[in-house]
Parts: sequence; C-alpha cells; structure tokens
Amino acid sequence: MKLFISADIEGTAGITCWDETEYGHPRYGYFAEQMTKEVSAVCAAASNLGWDILVKDAHDSARNILPDKLHSSATLVRGWARDINCMMSGIDTDKFDAVAFTGYHSAAMSEGNSLSHTMTTSVYSVKINGKYASEFMINSYTAAMYGIPVVFLSGDAALCESAKELIPGITTVASKRGFGSACISEHPDKVCSEISRRTREALSSDFKTACTLALPEHFSVEISYNDVNNCTRYACYPGVVRLDGKTLLFEHDSYKEVLRMMHFIL
Ligand SMILES: [Zn+2]
Repeated sequence: MKLFISADIEGTAGITCWDETEYGHPRYGYFAEQMTKEVSAVCAAASNLGWDILVKDAHDSARNILPDKLHSSATLVRGWARDINCMMSGIDTDKFDAVAFTGYHSAAMSEGNSLSHTMTTSVYSVKINGKYASEFMINSYTAAMYGIPVVFLSGDAALCESAKELIPGITTVASKRGFGSACISEHPDKVCSEISRRTREALSSDFKTACTLALPEHFSVEISYNDVNNCTRYACYPGVVRLDGKTLLFEHDSYKEVLRMMHFIL
C-alpha cells in the first residue's frame, strides 16, 4: 500500500506568525523541524503498518522538511516541479492508495488561524461552488481526480472541523486552535503522538468507502484579489469572466482545467 503526504507549515503546532514560516527568520528553523516531526509521525504509523510513503514538501520554497530528520521510511519530493498538481506534485508518479495532509491551515477569510490564506496572501478569497476554498479542499479534489481517498488531516482546529463537511469519514488531529493573532497548542510532542495514533487508526479503517470524495460534475470558481491590478492581469486567462473590479469567475466541468487555471492566475 502506498501513502501520499502533502505537508504545509501554517498548521503545525504552535505556529502563529508569518516570520515563523519564512526561511531566514530566527524562529523558522524550529518550526521547520516541528513540521518535519509531524510528517514523521504520520510516516512512523504508516510504515509500521507496511505502507510505502511519498512526502511532498508543499510550503513556500518546498524545501522546509529536514531530510535527515524525516522518518527513514519516507521518500521526499523537494522543490516545485511547476506542474498543475502544485502542492500535490508527485501524486501521479505512482499508484497511491491514500492521501494524508499535515500542517494544513484554514482558508482565506477564515478566523481559524492567524495565518489563514488560500495558496497566496495576495488573494482575498477563493470560492469553489459557493464555499470558501481552503488548500485542503483544492488538494482533496486533486486526490479525488486521481480516485484516491483522503484519510488523514492535521492542522488547525477550524480546518479540521470544516474538513469533515467535505469528507465525513476523514480522521483529523487539531495541532492548534487559532483565535485572533494567537493560538493554543498542546505540547508539540503530544501533538506528534496523537498524529501517529490517529494515523494508525485511519489506515486500519475501511477508509476506501469512508474517505473517497466524489468530484463535483461542475466547478464554479470565484477568485477575489487584494489588488485590482492583479485582477486586470488575470482576467486575460481564457474563459475567465470579470465580475467586478477585484473578482474573477471561471466555470468548467473538468477539475484538471480548474487546476490549470489556478496554476496561472492564483
Ligand atoms: Zn504554507
């Protein structure tokens, strides 16, 4: 059995401030290591059950996970291949049986995380079929496009709650609970233990039935930009309709075309 993990950093235990997510800042190293530990907690549980694992580092430079500190069962995708799968790059390199997300965060326009955003901070909001879209939602649809169930998520508590609306059978671990510019987290080691314990449960369950997401037949994607000039530029993408000074609409039945659109204008 093969597990694909997409790992972000803004949903790791205790992280509250953009400095802590950015290479070169004094506190970044600590959180890059905690991100690595949380991914490793999933890997430890999965490898104990005999799974092979591919990890996609999916934050910023995509070179955050410390390779020598990562659980030895994992193979790591570092850097950006520049393909439309983006944070899920590598998912088409093998036949995977399940997807897991770690360190994920609430969507732009959500109060659940001081670092809430969707793909980029230059976007005010992204809506898919009328709902504010998180990276979890976007990437779960990518997994669905490949017919792979999404079995596990760790990240902020608000995202974990909203994830169950999309995939009721998913197993989640809240690494922190955001409020305002603050967050509450249990001890990072305790979060990692819980991630391992719950991953083991998730992979031992009947996840194929419970965690396979049906891809909608039609996608209506609304993107609002913070900067009107970005909206003007991206309105040139084929098929995009400008709704107002800052908002674009793209409609398509194919999720691959949605990913291609987001690849160029998000
Ligand atoms: Zn990130």
